[in-house]
Amino acid sequence: MGTTTTYEAVIGLEVHAQLLTRSKIFCGCSASFGSQPNSQACPVCLGMPGVLPVLNKRVVEFAIKTAVALGCEIAEWCRFARKNYFYPDMPKNYQISQYELPLARKGALEFPVNGLTKRVRIHRLHLEEDVGKLLHAGTFQAADYSLVDFNRSGVPLMEIVSEPDIRSPEEAAEYLRQLRAILVYLEVCDGDMEEGSLRCDANVSVRPAGTEELGVKAEVKNMNSFKHVQKALAYEIQRQVRVLEEGGRIVQETRLWDADQELTFPMRSKEYAHDYRYFPEPDLVPLTISKEWIDEGRTTLPELPRERRARFVQQYSLPHYDAAVLTASRSLATYYEAVVKTFPEPKTASNWVMVELLGQLNKEGRQIAESPIPPAELAALLTLLQRGTISGKIAKAVFEEMYRTGKHAEIIVKEQGLTQISDQDELLRIVEAVLAQHPGPVADYRKGKVQSLTFLVGAVMKASRGKANPKAVNELLRARLEGEGEPPKGGG
Ligand code: ADP
Ligand code: ZN
Ligand code: MG
Repeated sequence: MGTTTTYEAVIGLEVHAQLLTRSKIFCGCSASFGSQPNSQACPVCLGMPGVLPVLNKRVVEFAIKTAVALGCEIAEWCRFARKNYFYPDMPKNYQISQYELPLARKGALEFPVNGLTKRVRIHRLHLEEDVGKLLHAGTFQAADYSLVDFNRSGVPLMEIVSEPDIRSPEEAAEYLRQLRAILVYLEVCDGDMEEGSLRCDANVSVRPAGTEELGVKAEVKNMNSFKHVQKALAYEIQRQVRVLEEGGRIVQETRLWDADQELTFPMRSKEYAHDYRYFPEPDLVPLTISKEWIDEGRTTLPELPRERRARFVQQYSLPHYDAAVLTASRSLATYYEAVVKTFPEPKTASNWVMVELLGQLNKEGRQIAESPIPPAELAALLTLLQRGTISGKIAKAVFEEMYRTGKHAEIIVKEQGLTQISDQDELLRIVEAVLAQHPGPVADYRKGKVQSLTFLVGAVMKASRGKANPKAVNELLRARLEGEGEPPKGGG
């Protein structure tokens, strides 16, 4: 007694990615999202007796690509299995999934966390069908009736199961970000957690630090953002430690994350594999994957996020942070590279894309593909800034105008007369006026109060409506205040 145990968290994630195929996994129905309920549901989707599933080849291609990207061993042949359970959104009472022979196993994902390289092994990657969706009328508990939409039934899912190699909520969130980036780069999944095209179940247990044996785990579901996964795990780890410290035991169960109250609560006791009575799907032949097929997946692989990140650091001398942000999605990375192509100042371009553009887009929940400013237009604005045609402050205002109206930078600058004043005579006139208006600060400066200069620069900038070149103003003011540049009196 009296000793305190420190605990270590052990986390394994099961990720379901909805694949971006046009049709479903076992029939020709459209797999698109958001149509009229039940407008995309044939007898196969409804699980009518006597129907036969036909495997969608593209689904397999997407899985092969992902497996290659994750360095998995791909099975020469694998098969589908029936996972039996009852749920009203699944009328045939089984889900076609894969069990003892998944499409791929034994991969790994490596990524940086807090400056160290983390490696999380992938246990398996397999294919399955999604089920329908229940809509509960009224409040959830007090619903009089429920509606069911079968559009989602048969939408292809790829499940990626990690080994329990993750040690903190932060690592879990980062693993998910990296995995998501790969799926999005491969264009096999849109990665939208809020819409449910990427779902994560988090398995977590705790054990005394330094021990090997795994603790009893809980599985947490219902988190629809990276932030929620991180929060739910942090909550769950704390809860488990508290239970153990109070002398209790963890029970193996499935818990739900409540995002409003920020806690997890028990949903059901854990079901075990034998509860599902898995058996090989008799309506589908085993799937044979040839070496050529795998090679094709390998040769059509695009540059992946990790490689692109490294290249950005190397080629553009960007900080790691910038490189990571800019390569978060393929379209963002492509956007950035298009800007740099015509405006070859990589760090300036990076700042504008990350701060101004992403700031604005994020505020409106928009994607880079929806940017009202195409890359060439942003490059044109930055060129005006670089040449000194406009000041930094004006450039931000022009940016906002471009974002709002879609107009060219040059046109906005011309229309609103925003060209930076670098002309010495014109600047001097403004400087003189400001000096005459503010004798106090002028005297202060001459008495040694250096900060007065900042005030005077500000006053000149204001008088020029932001158009004065701040560097030139600074020089002119300093020269005038230190008595070197008397006002031109005319004559002489
Ligand atoms: P189940 O049969 O309960 O689904 P699995 O062995 O299939 O369990 O593992 C599911 C996920 O849980 C995997 O990601 C795995 O890494 C993780 N996992 C397994 N055991 C533990 C544990 N004791 N603590 C944390 N995670 C675990
Ligand atoms: Zn169908
Ligand atoms: Mg499992």
